[in-house]
Amino acid sequence: MRDTSTVQKSIARALVWFRRDLRADDQAALYHALKAARQVFCGFVFDTTILDPLPRADRRVEFLVDSVADLDDQLRALGRSHGIEGCGLIVRHGPAASELPRLAQSLGVQAVFTNHDDEPDALLRDSRVRGALSDAGIALYTSKDHVVFERDELMTAGGSPYSVFTPYKNAWLRKLTPFFVHAYPVARHAGALAPLPADEALPTLAQLGFERSNLHQLKLPTGSRGAAELLDDFLDRIDAYGEARDFPAVKGPSYLSTHLRFGTVSIRHLAREAWQRMQGGSRGAEVWLSELVWRDFYHQILHHHPHVVGRAFKPAYDAIRWEHGKHADALFEAWCQGRTGYPLVDAAMHQINQTGYMHNRLRMVVASFLVKDLGLDWRRGEAYFATHLNDFDLAANNGGWQWAASTGCDAQPYFRIFNPVSQSLKFDAEGRFIRRYLPQLSALPDKLIHAPWLARPVDLVAAGIELGRDYPTPIVDHDDARQRTLARYAVVKQA
Ligand code: FAD
Repeated sequence: MRDTSTVQKSIARALVWFRRDLRADDQAALYHALKAARQVFCGFVFDTTILDPLPRADRRVEFLVDSVADLDDQLRALGRSHGIEGCGLIVRHGPAASELPRLAQSLGVQAVFTNHDDEPDALLRDSRVRGALSDAGIALYTSKDHVVFERDELMTAGGSPYSVFTPYKNAWLRKLTPFFVHAYPVARHAGALAPLPADEALPTLAQLGFERSNLHQLKLPTGSRGAAELLDDFLDRIDAYGEARDFPAVKGPSYLSTHLRFGTVSIRHLAREAWQRMQGGSRGAEVWLSELVWRDFYHQILHHHPHVVGRAFKPAYDAIRWEHGKHADALFEAWCQGRTGYPLVDAAMHQINQTGYMHNRLRMVVASFLVKDLGLDWRRGEAYFATHLNDFDLAANNGGWQWAASTGCDAQPYFRIFNPVSQSLKFDAEGRFIRRYLPQLSALPDKLIHAPWLARPVDLVAAGIELGRDYPTPIVDHDDARQRTLARYAVVKQA
């Protein structure tokens, strides 16, 4: 792989391969291609290797279809602003590893430009693409785009990767200069965009073999325009983020995670906004910037420690024996369907099932509950989230699950076990979030809604609830589970 900075404008034709960077503004690969080549085509592959195993109604595929159409519009407009009609996105549907080299050859390009994707499967795909392109005499140039600092850019004084967040964050903030968050001025060079070689129609959801989900009933606008809307809305609230972000019934966070996942917003833009506001004294912006640093942190963990996919970051924790068998499967089903009898956990699971989003506090609560109350393998929960989250991102999801299961880098110590009722009392004191997703509990007074099994029969009758009929009794006793978990994790002390 060659460094793009050494490329002169000596390339006649190039192709930009879009993947998790679906925007035409501040896009590294697009910028480098436009600077290096006289004619630049833009392409996207709906990769059947990724799409085929997905359920037929999948919000993410719909988000992708919309965002690809939005990107096509942006490219057309960008070309037009330079007097070039007929620009846009060339879209293919098939295995990307073979479709992309085929497209590059058919366009007669000398180079393909794309941005890094450090997930293990993506690296494998890219090495195949690089091989096929190279056989055809086509170069592949790649750039950082998805994170602020990647791979080996931040290392400890001893030259090893960071595995503890706070020193990583301190080093991240020390290294940050305006250069790293500066936007790539794509528009300035867009005169090199090439018109589409033929009429290209974008595939519909149905043509890709998918059905409509409920995405359009949710408050998740798609494409770069959608990201801009969410960001505008969030910037009005960012100063309060530090206080508001932990309460699931409050509109505290940015809801930008799906956009960050698909690159419909630039991480440099977000980090720049947060950094400038932090320097202007906004505590909320400072806390939010920390969250963006967590994102970089988990990406570099995945890059340096790919064994975290499938195994514990700390190998000793692979010795833990999780519950298995029929009873464990039934517990897992109850967790998935929001039938554990713990209202905050159940409301959170209804949130992910109905919307594909779950508030960060609740991700921690339900993950802890799965592992430390039900004694189930964290990988089962990780896989469930991977299927259901709109913002599913391997690095962040794996990091979050290993944090909650205490198996990861800089994780929650194993003996810190969230009490689902205390979490509920603290973060949803009035039960507003619970009532949103569990309307059958609505009539319970605030102080009883967190643990209905502790309510007196008279209170349950008054609220019109029969436990076991309208709402489950708890599937596990938290105090007993806590003891079992401490025993389960004892193998780690012996390791
Ligand atoms: P905001 O609070 O507005 O945060 C801004 C951005 O910072 C987020 O969009 C996200 O990109 C990043 N961020 C925030 N918290 C984290 C974090 N802990 N780790 C990494 N990045 C973070 N995030 C994902 O993007 N994809 C996942 O698959 C994912 N799985 C998770 C699983 C578990 C068990 C846990 C505990 C957390 C997970 N997170 C994941 C992190 C976090 O919950 C979400 O990023 C956040 O809830 C998204 O909402 P938001 O965009 O409103 O976040």
